[in-house]
This record gives sequence, structure tokens and C-alpha cells, in this order.
Amino acid sequence: MATPAPEQPPPGQEAKKLHFVIVGGSLGGLAAGIALTALGHDATILERNAAPVLQDQGAGIVAGGDTLAFFARYDRTGRPLAVRSARRQYLDRRGAVVHAVDVAQSMTSWDLAYHLLRANFDGLASAYCPAPPAPAPPGRGRATHLHDRRVTRFEEEAGGGVRAFWRTAAGAEGSTLGDVLVGADGPSSTVRALLEPAVARTYAGYCALRGTLPEAAASAATRAALCERFTFFHGPGVQCLAYLIPGRAGAVEPGRRLINFVCYANFPAGSPELARVLTGRDGRRRQVTMPPGMTDPGAWEEQRAWARAALPPPLAEVVCGAERPFVQAVTDVLSPRNEYLGGKVVLLGDALAGFRPHTVASTSQAAFDAMLYADYVAGRVSRDEWIRQTLGFARYIQRRGVDMGERSQHQDLPLEEYIRDRDVASTPREQEVFPDWATAI
Ligand SMILES: Cc1cc2nc3c(=O)[nH]c(=O)nc-3n(C[C@H](O)[C@H](O)[C@H](O)COP(=O)(O)OP(=O)(O)OC[C@H]3O[C@@H](n4cnc5c(N)ncnc54)[C@H](O)[C@@H]3O)c2cc1C
Repeated sequence: MATPAPEQPPPGQEAKKLHFVIVGGSLGGLAAGIALTALGHDATILERNAAPVLQDQGAGIVAGGDTLAFFARYDRTGRPLAVRSARRQYLDRRGAVVHAVDVAQSMTSWDLAYHLLRANFDGLASAYCPAPPAPAPPGRGRATHLHDRRVTRFEEEAGGGVRAFWRTAAGAEGSTLGDVLVGADGPSSTVRALLEPAVARTYAGYCALRGTLPEAAASAATRAALCERFTFFHGPGVQCLAYLIPGRAGAVEPGRRLINFVCYANFPAGSPELARVLTGRDGRRRQVTMPPGMTDPGAWEEQRAWARAALPPPLAEVVCGAERPFVQAVTDVLSPRNEYLGGKVVLLGDALAGFRPHTVASTSQAAFDAMLYADYVAGRVSRDEWIRQTLGFARYIQRRGVDMGERSQHQDLPLEEYIRDRDVASTPREQEVFPDWATAI
């Protein structure tokens, strides 16, 4: 595979070397760091996690057009990112295929995407990429990844730039000065909360029950029903989907992949059912995510019983067979702006807009935001174009996710309606026409 060369700004628009301080070292922060260092600027990621490498959630993500475009543009590892599905299908409660359409889709795992981005950003070697590319070849900026740095606040410096103040798990305090602060710190963003204290992250009234089953551990009938397929089931208050993702250390070969499932089920806010599913084996109540391996065995047994009663047999089998299931409360959040302090602070990815998962667009948003921001920094797109495109995507897809979720969880519609919603959500971003309310700045 050809090694992408460092990107050069258009002639006459060579900018001074900048230092970007990026808060958050998940997919969005890493994507921004890669895109900006490829332009020759320096980037420092401040990640709050106390461990040097983030723990994976053991689950899949759909690799949408912008995610694939990002890897095509910046990846220097040459490792395969995704597995493909050739067909989208809908099952009825008995497991019969009631609708199918041939559409190609690429799916990856969070951990594979994360490790490939780390390999590209700061040369982290891992089982996913044992021989990463050189971190800083000529023309690239310096890439620094600092873990155990929880950013608590920032200040504009009198002499220019922005200083991010952080604290370690042991209580040590320090700060990092940059020309621009990029908030890639997720849906509960601290950077956004400091700028937009009125913006709240709210619970949508349902949770995603998630997990994986090795394809080799599934029955022959379930493998035949689900492999190479992107499968959906809709029932009253229930949506369940399953698709293949890369397996251990990013293996994409048949037999070594995982069947990934996501089931959306209603748990009313404040209900004892919600408290039960979000209280772990350690007795601690989580607000948003019950990590893999922490679900309470009794509470998960109830979900297995529910799956057997409510889902088609192949989907019930993968739910019941998952070894490390996890639960995510579905939430909504949207920032009104992505640029602050005259461009010295920028929000991207989930910090800008936390989408409902039905949109399958969160990782693509992070990739798109990073690429377009780098194009703006390089002088390839205007400030207005960058803001309009970024906010248009954020606002429009965020609204779409709310609509899709409300329809699938709270309205018992004919299957055709859900199929139409899915088809609309599969529109490539370049073909989307964002309405004026979405792109207004
Ligand atoms: C550990 C992890 C596992 C995930 N697993 C999956 C998955 O399996 N499937 C899936 O579809 N999506 C998963 N996601 C979500 C997915 O990565 C995002 O929706 C999407 O890629 C956009 O990411 P983001 O970088 O904008 O935000 P996020 O992925 O939410 O990342 C935000 C990052 O900022 C860090 N952070 C937050 N506050 C601070 C602070 N004050 N100071 C410093 N750092 C801070 C967080 O620790 C986190 O690493 C996961 C996210 C994380 C963090």
C-alpha cells in the first residue's frame, strides 16, 4: 500500500507551525491529531484515562463513508480496517427473512479502529499493528499522547494561545499551552460544558444491550442466518441488529470474526428496571455505560430471558451467548456551535453532537470533522464552509437519530416504515442536502 505523503497547504497559504492541544484521545481526538500532524503542525492529546491505552468496549462500529475516506487518506499501516456485508435483511419473530436488499456495508470494531489510529498518530505497537509506521517522518508535526490528564478548565493566554489545565488520578496538577484547543472529549465534554453550560446530555428512555459472540461459537443455523449479512429485527418497543466485525487483534478472516449485536429496549427514566440494568456486579450504579464484564449476572439473566421471548432465534442465540455483554443508555446532546474564542477553541465528534446509534454515524462524524477541520486549517476550505458543513452534519444527523429512535422505540409502525428510515440513514453524506436550519451560522 502506498504511504500517504505529508499534506501540503495550497501555495501561498503556508501557515506558521501551530500547536493543537486536543482534549480526549478516543477516535475523534486521534483522527484530529493525525489530520493536523499530517499538515506539519504539532498535536498533543490529553486523555483522562489513567492507563496509556484505552480499554475497548468489545463491540462493533459501522465504518461509514467518512471513516473509510479518513483511512484512505491518512492510514500508513496498510492493515485491513473492516469486514464487509453484502446484504441487508430483516427477520420476522420466527427468524424468516421478510425483506432483503443487496447493499455493501463495511463494519469494524472499536478496538481495531482505535489501535490503527494510535499506530498512525504516535506509533503505538499492538497486536493489531505490531510494526507501526515511524511517528514523525519529515514534514509531519510532532505527535504527543499523554494519558492520565483529566482537563478541568482552560484559559486564554494574554500573549496568545489557550492553556488547558489538567489533573492526574493521583491529584498532581499541571497545564499545557497550545495555539488552539480542540475539544474531542465526547458526549459529556468538559470543554463544551465550560463554553455552553446550558447544554445538557439527556437520556432518551431506552438502552442498547450490546455484545459479541465469536462466529465459531455460533450454531451452524445462526452462522448461516447472520454471516455476511446486516440483520435487523423490529418489534413493539424493540429493535435488534447484528453484523460481523473483526475478531481478536483485528482478524478479518472467516472463522475468526465476531457476531456483534445491538438490541434497543425501553427502560423508562427513573424506573427500577433502568436502575437494575445499569447497576453492576460491583453494586455501583452507572449513569450511561455498564462496561463489558461488569453487568450483574442476575440482571443480565433477565435480559437473556427477554431475548428468548422477544427476538428471532438467531438473534436470541447471540444475545444469550455473549460472554461480556454491556449496556449503554441512549442519550442526546447537541452543541449550538463548534467554534469559540475566535477559533482558539473548537469542538468535534461526540463533544459537538452525540448521535443516537441508529444513525451509525458517530465515528464517521468524528472522521469528517477531523478531515474538514484540517482542510480549513490548511486553507483549502473557507471558515464559513467548514462551520456550515460541520454544523449541518451535526444538527441534521442528530435530529435524524432522535426521529429514528422515537419511531422505532415508541411507535409500532409497519416494517416498511423502518426499512425506509434505514435506507434514508444510509444516504452517503455527499448526497445529503442539509436544510437551511441545519447549516445556519
Ligand atoms: C473507551 C471507549 C470505547 C468505545 N467503544 C465503542 C464501541 O464499542 N462501539 C461504538 O459504536 N462506539 C464506541 N465508543 C464511542 C465512539 O468511539 C464514539 O462515539 C465516536 O467514535 C466519536 O468519538 P469521540 O472521540 O468524539 O468521543 P468519545 O469516543 O466519547 O471519546 C472521548 C474521549 O475523551 C476523553 N475525555 C473525556 N473527558 C475528558 C477530560 N475532561 N479530559 C481528558 N480526556 C477526557 C474520554 O476518556 C474519551 O477517551 C467508545 C468510546 C470510548 C471512549
